[in-house]
Amino acid sequence: MLCKNWTAVLLVFLLAFQVSAKEGMWIPILLEKYNLAEMQEMGFKLTAQDIYDVNHASMKDAVVIFGGGCTGELISDEGLLITNHHCGYGAIQAHSSVEHDYLTNGFWAMNKSEELPNQRLTVSFLEYMEDVSDKVMEGTEGLDETALRDKIRSNTQTIVKNAGQEGKFSASVKPLFYGNQYFLYVYKVFRDVRLVGAPPSAIGKFGGDTDNWMWPRHTGDFSLFRVYANKDNEPADYSPDNVPYQPKKFFPVSMKGVQQGDFTMVFGNPGTTTEYWAHQAVDITMNQRDPDRIMLRDKKLEIIGADMESDPAIRIQYAAKYQSISNAWKKWQGEIKGLERLDAVNKKLAYEQEFKAWAEQNGTWESTYKPVFDEFEKQYEVYAKYVKASDYYSEVVLRGVEVFRHAQAVSSIINFIEGKQDEVAKVRRAAAVAGLEGFYKNFNQPTDEKLFAELMPLLAAGLSDEFVPAELKEMVQKYGGRELVEKVYRKSVLSNREKLEKLLRDGSDKQLLKLRKDPLVNLYKQIDYINETTVSPKVREASAAIDAAMKIYMAGLMEKNVGKAFYPDANLTLRVAYGKVEGYEPVDGVEYKYYTTLTGIMEKDNPEIYDYDVPDRLRELYENKDFGAYGVDGTVPVCFTASNHTTGGNSGSPVVNANGELIGVNFDRCWEGTMSDIMYDPKVCRNISLDIRYVLFIVDKFAGAGYLLNEMDIVK
Ligand code: ASP
Repeated sequence: MLCKNWTAVLLVFLLAFQVSAKEGMWIPILLEKYNLAEMQEMGFKLTAQDIYDVNHASMKDAVVIFGGGCTGELISDEGLLITNHHCGYGAIQAHSSVEHDYLTNGFWAMNKSEELPNQRLTVSFLEYMEDVSDKVMEGTEGLDETALRDKIRSNTQTIVKNAGQEGKFSASVKPLFYGNQYFLYVYKVFRDVRLVGAPPSAIGKFGGDTDNWMWPRHTGDFSLFRVYANKDNEPADYSPDNVPYQPKKFFPVSMKGVQQGDFTMVFGNPGTTTEYWAHQAVDITMNQRDPDRIMLRDKKLEIIGADMESDPAIRIQYAAKYQSISNAWKKWQGEIKGLERLDAVNKKLAYEQEFKAWAEQNGTWESTYKPVFDEFEKQYEVYAKYVKASDYYSEVVLRGVEVFRHAQAVSSIINFIEGKQDEVAKVRRAAAVAGLEGFYKNFNQPTDEKLFAELMPLLAAGLSDEFVPAELKEMVQKYGGRELVEKVYRKSVLSNREKLEKLLRDGSDKQLLKLRKDPLVNLYKQIDYINETTVSPKVREASAAIDAAMKIYMAGLMEKNVGKAFYPDANLTLRVAYGKVEGYEPVDGVEYKYYTTLTGIMEKDNPEIYDYDVPDRLRELYENKDFGAYGVDGTVPVCFTASNHTTGGNSGSPVVNANGELIGVNFDRCWEGTMSDIMYDPKVCRNISLDIRYVLFIVDKFAGAGYLLNEMDIVK
């Protein structure tokens, strides 16, 4: 009997151990405390200070937030940076035209003077992070809900202001564990970041939407940039006088490759996860929010995709938009499947039952946690109702029919004129005029009209009456899709660039105020009114109440599991995920290997299929077995999978080996594991990385830009 019990205890321990070896996005300054021993047991050969150290150069000095939501890493002492192709995509697209189609043909600067500057692209280096929980909570004892929130806000503002050192740094304080802890993050932001190289989409996006979120995978998902600084090595706006930034640290690049079971670590900026959600949140996501958004995006992708296929200019204009719509659209589909397979809602319910039993046993249920669970029940019902409208507005109005963006600008100008805030109205007008050029560069009105014709009826049909302006309901009932365009869209001044520009530039206030009657402005205003007066506040209030309840629940979870290391949900800050190089079993009877090769690219090769049309040069290299130093067993390694817990934002993250050398660039996850943002399953959750040897092969042999390798520290 004793023996049996011990086996059970050991088994539980081992299971817990296995899970913790893979699940988790850990805080760099807490590695020593929570993770280092395990990392070293798994093969890691360095110290926690090699990863993060404020006093000496460490890996963190070579990792950046790239743009708004990706990761990038430095790979030379001349500011050379690698990230994903899909992260650099907006920049590559912005430089592309039918004449210089870098999306199709790729782009390679053959020296520094050919590198292309990018407006508004930044990279942020983390100077330091700090636990500021005590400072944030200072003076909050005994305050009621509202006063508490205000005090936390004002404390946070003071911390951020001090850390920013008058503009030298960009600082933010973020809550962890739903506000049980607060961390300060201080960044140095570089604003001159130039495009150095990008493979053609037929490499960088090989497999397209078909293969996205899938394994086996053969995508050469990388692009190269260079960070520039002023003569003092400090951030500066673009100037031809700027010089390549000299980082405190850059990653050596390993040619040694990966083997089954090797230790791997991903060091990047995961965006958002929600691993501790209550069951209601999981339920709403998989049964309402994901399906709604998928359905609306189905329509958008169908319309935009058909137009892109019909005209090369439209293909370039809409490439980046299409990519961002389809990326989440496909992920949500995988997420639903994964959550269903895991029976996630019932798992959460069981977990909550277990929690309840624990709380009952220690006498805290009635007083502390029952109110929390009651609050979940109440608030999630409200949330579900209003977030539905919010999702529709977001997909259709804010990020669907693009001409509504003019409506948004115009109606805010009208509001300022009405409110007699003439100066602000003027500034808004100037900003709206300035934004027109960029807007129309990537805009095709017939496409937008089709979106209007199809999406407005979906909005009217999908939402209950209280969320649909009566006029819209009427319009949709009266006119069919195309007629709707004629009677509403085309009647609006917003559908005429010249007139709109003239009005914004030279129109009198009176003329602008007349736009209140413009059919699109009017429609936008009505939807915006419902959103601003009802939908948004309800979602906000419910979310705030849920978060407040989550704070107590989270603290309870930690108390219940003393001794267990918890990782906070991702929040686009620097985290460490560690695991092993390994494949997985997607379904019974099938085993996936951990790597793919160029041979697989050639197997997929099919000029008839857009996603699988291998460039001639790559085909030629393969046929001649011209692999240079990058060939392994008669082919070239392309991608590999590992058990590192990653999410969006980790795109472009360095994947390093036990010695801290770069072996790959993280870019995706496997289909069966896309629910990992909500519930992680160590059996099938795998991140997908680009093998760095494929990058070197493409740069050197395919593109003939081998000069770039000279500035890298290549470990053979
Ligand atoms: N490919 C993913 C993305 O673009 C990265 C991930 O979520 O793992 O968001």
